[in-house]
Amino acid sequence: MNRFWPASLQSLTPYVPGEQAISSNTIKLNTNEHALVASERALAVLKGVSADQLRRYPDPVSRQLRETIAERESLSTDHVLVGNGSDEILGFVWQAYLSSPSSVPAIPGLTYTFYPVWAQLFGGDLAHIPLQADFSLDLTSMSEWEGPLVFPNPNAPTGLAIDRGQVEAIITANPDRLVVIDEAYIGFGAQSAAPLIEEYDNLIVTRSLSKSHALAGLRVGYALGHPELIEGLRRIKDSFNSYPLDAVAQRVANEALTDQEWESQSQAFIARNRDSLSSDLKALCFTVLPSQANFVFASHSKASGVSLTQALKDDGILVRSWDSDALRAWVRITVGTSEQQQRLIESLTRILS
Ligand SMILES: *Cc1c(COP(=O)(O)O)cnc(C)c1O
Repeated sequence: MNRFWPASLQSLTPYVPGEQAISSNTIKLNTNEHALVASERALAVLKGVSADQLRRYPDPVSRQLRETIAERESLSTDHVLVGNGSDEILGFVWQAYLSSPSSVPAIPGLTYTFYPVWAQLFGGDLAHIPLQADFSLDLTSMSEWEGPLVFPNPNAPTGLAIDRGQVEAIITANPDRLVVIDEAYIGFGAQSAAPLIEEYDNLIVTRSLSKSHALAGLRVGYALGHPELIEGLRRIKDSFNSYPLDAVAQRVANEALTDQEWESQSQAFIARNRDSLSSDLKALCFTVLPSQANFVFASHSKASGVSLTQALKDDGILVRSWDSDALRAWVRITVGTSEQQQRLIESLTRILS
């Protein structure tokens, strides 16, 4: 607090990201970073960045990167906006389309905890549509909601996904309200809504290279949508920062998105380790939701998520839990390497015995 802080700043409750590693031996399974390192080809581009590329301003419209993304999705570059991580993109979406007092957006009762922060920052209201008892989205109530909808698919922190037909039913239930689908965890098995972009003008899909491409440190995200919706986001972007994506990030992201071989290997790796993590946890009597993301959401009848998180931390392993009534029982564990997961399971076996 400071005497120069206006009331709006005093009342702000910023988002708190997951904790960073305490030491290099720490096993970090708390922020859903990818277990593998990024594409070799992308890393080679990183090493080849020249002084002259850094001397100049980057391309403000990221043309090459947008062309690569458009080609991957069979869309045009006018359907694509890139930004400094999908959090920035979602911030633009909130400011542009979700802060009108006459049309209150709704999010799932349990979901990404950054959404309420943007709602507060941009001064809009926000409604919550409770999940069903099995943690799945309440698709009926979502379809009936009259304002815009925002939800991740797969949802966080549950890892549960809905299929493209279910997404399409929500979009078509009311063509006059915007549907924003946060696909931060696409690429690990769930179906994307991107093929619906050309057909529906009330849909925005946001993506991130942080999880699917092992590039959380590069900060690259993008939005896909009808060219006029994208143009609206660009107006916000260019009124705030013309160059949100630096010259290095544009080049490295572009290369990463064309390395199909890395992507296939990554997907197979995550699916395999997610299966073994889930079955090892079940063998320790955990309840584990069927995840389509690079993390699992699990609970145990003998220990709360918060107490397990503390006991694991004492053992040098970071996982994520929440101190709220709805979530106290649960832990979210990022899919790791086989060695990391083995250490985790050994530690949990000791803690629970
Ligand atoms: C990680 C995450 C993001 C943000 O991703 P960045 O591209 O790293 O900003 C957005 N939404 C959800 C649900 C996430 O888990």
